[in-house]
Amino acid sequence: LQRKSDVIVIGAGAAGMMAAIRAGKRGRSVVILDHARTPGEKIRISGGGRCNFTNIHAGPKNFLSANPHFCKSALARFTPADFIAMVDGHGIAWHEKTLGQLFCDDSAKDIIRMLLAEMRMAGAMLHLGTEISGVEKTEAGFRVSTSDGHCEASSLIVATGGKSIPKMGATGFAYRLAEQFGLAVLETRPGLVPLTLDPGLLESIAPLAGIAAPAEIRHGRTAFREALLFTHRGLSGPAILQISSYWREGDEVVVAIEPDIDIAAHLKTAKQINGRQSPQTALGDILPKRLAQFLVDREKISGNMADLPDKALLRLAAGVQNWAVKPSGSEGYRTAEVTLGGIDTAALDSRSMETKAVPGLYFIGECVDVTGWLGGYNFQWAWASGFAAGECV
Ligand code: FAD
Repeated sequence: LQRKSDVIVIGAGAAGMMAAIRAGKRGRSVVILDHARTPGEKIRISGGGRCNFTNIHAGPKNFLSANPHFCKSALARFTPADFIAMVDGHGIAWHEKTLGQLFCDDSAKDIIRMLLAEMRMAGAMLHLGTEISGVEKTEAGFRVSTSDGHCEASSLIVATGGKSIPKMGATGFAYRLAEQFGLAVLETRPGLVPLTLDPGLLESIAPLAGIAAPAEIRHGRTAFREALLFTHRGLSGPAILQISSYWREGDEVVVAIEPDIDIAAHLKTAKQINGRQSPQTALGDILPKRLAQFLVDREKISGNMADLPDKALLRLAAGVQNWAVKPSGSEGYRTAEVTLGGIDTAALDSRSMETKAVPGLYFIGECVDVTGWLGGYNFQWAWASGFAAGECV
């Protein structure tokens, strides 16, 4: 382990590697430490193994934070186009999947290889399998004690991520370190996570497990239109993951299945054209058959379409497009893609990610109270905040 350098980065994930690259390219000597045996493990498993590395529409509106303005500066100074230029520079093929989400054609490992190559070019020294046992402020900067001895630097960048997926080595390291230096940490909770249901409700929707449908999920004034997935544990799919970041224990969410279709009008037409049809058949023209059956049963509707008063059809339509459901909880950090909350942005300079109270100490990436939507936004924050710190150390 190199004993003295200009910069120490703790955490060789997305944000830490980007910071190390930028600082190294500016001529700073950089040591980057990680307790894991391999760097960028979350990049490797991201986007189903293809890494949704950015979103071309990424802007401040796609992030949650107690201060929604905080992310603006960093996002403006390192944009999706900047990251795409790096990816193109390494000849990595990519495609837009949907909604501005960019994925590798081949493998997420291409992104890790790219970052490692850039770190080598920038002269950053990577030390893996290194446990951090303590951090102290010294007159000249910081002294970090590790399982491999200690090292010192004038700047310390903390990029150890959030609490999600503890199985993969996520720790609360950044939060504890912030507290050690007297910085405020906002309550953390799992985000982009499936929601669970009470046993009774779960039992009633058990036959739907595995069904996916386009949906709009609303929570207050926030709504997302993406796929909804029924599972053995509750509700999932991109629309649910998105709304989960806004949902709080005890809140209801409102589900509208096939939001682009006027279900009430469809049912009325079906009644006129083919009165002998059953309502599940009429609904089954639009929805998966099992889901149509479930919704008809739930409204306790029976008979042919011709027998049903318009009121019953409207009730059925409301059941499809105005279903208020109160999740019992979330699957928690075990499966959450991100951690909401974290280092209070009020403690940080938005240009550099440097703490105001402790000059030379920086926090970047997911440990900061900036959390993106599903769709490549979280990596864009990691790149942008990492670049911001690397640019200033
Ligand atoms: P991380 O990438 O988590 O890196 C933190 C690093 O710090 C790790 O290498 C870790 O080993 C190290 N570390 C932690 N504690 C210590 C310690 N005590 N000592 C030393 N080192 C430590 N986002 C997207 O934008 N697109 C996606 O496609 C996407 N897919 C995802 C899929 C899954 C399953 C998950 C869990 C997340 C996904 N995300 C995705 C979110 C994204 O992975 C994170 O937002 C991003 O990795 C955060 O970057 P980071 O550098 O802040 O933290």
